[in-house]
Formats: sequence, C-alpha cells, structure tokens
Amino acid sequence: MSPPITVDVLVVGSGPAGATTARFAAQGGLDVLLVDKKQELGAPIQCSGAVSAHALMDVGVEAHPEFVVEPIYGFKVYDSDGASTVLDYRELKPDAYADNPLGYIVDRRRFDRYLTTLVERSGAEVLLKTEAQAMERIDDRRIRVQLQHFGAPLTVHARVLVGADGLQSQVGKWAGLRTHIKLSELASCLQYVMDGVQTEGLLELITGRRWAPGGYAWVFPKSSGYAEVGLGIIRTMTDHDARWHLDHFLKRSFLAERFRLGKIIEIQGGGVPLAAPLTQQTADHVLLVGDAARHVNPITGGGIHTALRCGKIAGDFLANFLRSGAIPSNANLQEFQRRWEVSLGRSMWKLYRSKRAVFRIKEFAAQDRQLYRTLADYFGQDSEYRKI
Ligand SMILES: Cc1cc2nc3c(=O)[nH]c(=O)nc-3n(C[C@H](O)[C@H](O)[C@H](O)COP(=O)(O)OP(=O)(O)OC[C@H]3O[C@@H](n4cnc5c(N)ncnc54)[C@H](O)[C@@H]3O)c2cc1C
Repeated sequence: MSPPITVDVLVVGSGPAGATTARFAAQGGLDVLLVDKKQELGAPIQCSGAVSAHALMDVGVEAHPEFVVEPIYGFKVYDSDGASTVLDYRELKPDAYADNPLGYIVDRRRFDRYLTTLVERSGAEVLLKTEAQAMERIDDRRIRVQLQHFGAPLTVHARVLVGADGLQSQVGKWAGLRTHIKLSELASCLQYVMDGVQTEGLLELITGRRWAPGGYAWVFPKSSGYAEVGLGIIRTMTDHDARWHLDHFLKRSFLAERFRLGKIIEIQGGGVPLAAPLTQQTADHVLLVGDAARHVNPITGGGIHTALRCGKIAGDFLANFLRSGAIPSNANLQEFQRRWEVSLGRSMWKLYRSKRAVFRIKEFAAQDRQLYRTLADYFGQDSEYRKI
C-alpha cells in the first residue's frame, strides 16, 4: 500500500461547493487535496444549470464560453391557469442588462470541469475516480481518511476534511451530523432536454399544485434551439411520480401547444433538498458545504450560487484558521458557520420560513396563489435576494 499523503485540507466532492472551497483554501496558502469519485465530473447531468452572473463574479469565475450555453435576461412566472408576471431585465433595467445577461445556463459537465481546472491552477492537487470511504480521528490535530483511488486503497492524513459530497453526504454521517432529510422536504426532479420548443432568453417557472405539487415546473432555454422542460415535486403530496407529472404537464398544461412538436433528446433527474440548512455544519476536523449542508435555496431549489459562495467562505476561513496553527475542534470550526450565517445563512433561513408559510396553507387554491406571488416577488426588481 502506498504511504499516507499528508495535507492541510482534504475536500471530498468536486461539484461547485468543493471545487470553490479547494481553490480558495489553496490560494490562501494551504496544502489541499480535492477528490471526486467520478471519472467525468458533472456527469450524468442532474442539473438545469441556471446561475446568476453575480454568483460567478462573487467567486472570481469568468462567464467563459467553455461552459456557458445560454444567456438569461429575466423570468416569467406563471400561475396555475397561465396568467404570468414577466420580469425581463432587458426592459426593466436596460442600462444594466440590455447587453449584459443577468445570468446563464451552464453545461454542468463543462462547468464542473472548468471549476476543477481552476483548482489545479491554484496549486491544489486533484484526484478523480477517488472515493472517500471512511474516516477516523488520529489525534487533536489530524484525522485519517480512507480512499479508493482507481480501486486501490489510499490513505490521507488531513487537518480538516471538507464534506462537499452532495445531498447524500457520507462525510456528514461519519461526523455524526444530523443530515437526515424528511421526504416531505426532498423534491424529486426530472427534466427533458427537448428539441423544437421555443424559448425567449427567460427562465419560465410554472406554479400550481396540479402541475407540480410542492414545487414548480420550468422551461429554460438551452443552446442550439434546445429547451430544458422539467419539474420538481414533493412525493408525499401526490400519488404520482415526477415522470407522470412531467408528461401530464407537457400534454395537459396551458403550454401544451408549445411542446406539441418537441422531441425529447435527453432525460435528467435528481433530488433537491427544499429544506432548512443544517443547524450544525461542523464537527471536530470536519465541515460541510453545498448540498451536503443543505445550502440550497428552499424556494427555487437553486444550489449552484449558494454552493459557490459557501465554498469561498469555507476556503477563506480555512486558510486563515489553519495558518494560525489552531486546533480544528468543532468549537473552533464553528466560526465558519457563523461567517456563513452572516453572509448567506440568515437569508436562507428567511426563505425557508417563507416556503413553510406557503405549504402550511390548507386550501389548495390559496396555496397556489401564495406560491405564485412568492416566486414572482423573489425575482422582482425590489427583491432583497440575489436573483437566481
Ligand atoms: C434536476 C435538477 C436541476 C437543478 N437545477 C439547478 C439550477 O438550474 N440552478 C441551480 O443553482 N441549482 C440547480 N440544481 C441544484 C444543484 O445541482 C445543486 O444544488 C448543486 O450541484 C450542489 O453542488 P455541490 O457542490 O454541493 O454538490 P454536487 O454538485 O452534488 O457535487 C457533489 C460531488 O461529490 C462527489 N462525491 C459524493 N460522494 C463522494 C465520495 N464518497 N467520495 C468522493 N466524491 C464523492 C460526487 O461525485 C459529486 O461530484 C438542480 C438539481 C437538480 C437535481
């Protein structure tokens, strides 16, 4: 067996959260190893790829043609009968957005690869096809993490282990954090990439329990005349699965005529936590970022922006913290969560409370109206939140 590798930080998972954490930690002078069990990052695609321009800017990522597939200029939010609120920022704020997009659709395979390239360039080491399988504490200063690299065992000694390993985080479980998610807060999402469905540079969101119970349906533009048509549902609110609802939406909704000649060329899906952030995101030697810590917008289900921002907070924090020589105990690492709360967490908790208020409404028509209003307000000009 090869001798253990010793690093300051081992990051498990090279999605947007892990790659950003690793990049900022390495830029801050730490010895960083980033591993991902996949051999092709971002694949299979389980994401629509909508992300705002400022989310990229916040973490110093240029909107590069390598991964941008479509510019986004605004939103169209529909109620369940087809009435809509259009928020086209080309018209609302022509000075800022006539030429500059508000956001983008990114290709997650190429986006995740690009982010990982930036990690390599920042001086960190990256190992693909490398799965974290177990961890144990060595002493106050280090833990041992057992990996499988191309099927062969590999041991890493690290001062901190960052769990950026997504919704089903194993790192969180090993650390004893309460990562369990209720089925009533887990959206089951499915989308078709379709040819022959017209789009207009807007993210279209369709509310209404009859189309997507517990979530919403969407039509997003994609390059080369493709569209992403999908939805997220809460399985405990319906007798049918996501596929049934998506087919029903395509055939029966007020947009059905637009889909009539569309052809499905790809099917993608996955789970999205529409839950509160974890109340505890750190343990001795461990912190969680991104989906692993439920850093997902509970109203929109968007998690790229929050993963990127949290990754920067974590990477910057670790660089300062570990360079000071401090012991990575839970008590000390909690400062990361405090910084996250100030920068992002309070807004996420507020959004979670708004989401709960919507779905507590017993009368379905009133619930539908409230979700429609909440989403339209969220994307509005006066919204206190960042847009995507
Ligand atoms: C259908 C769908 C559509 C979506 N659309 C959008 C959207 O348009 N905009 C948006 O903002 N968000 C969207 N999301 C949510 C978004 O995809 C996630 O919030 C985001 O990917 C979270 O990033 P992450 O880095 O935390 O985790 P992930 O992107 O899930 O990355 C986790 C990584 O960890 C790796 N990993 C896991 N376990 C291990 C292990 N033991 N060892 C090594 N590696 C491991 C995985 O291989 C993976 O690469 C969507 C989600 C779904 C399901």
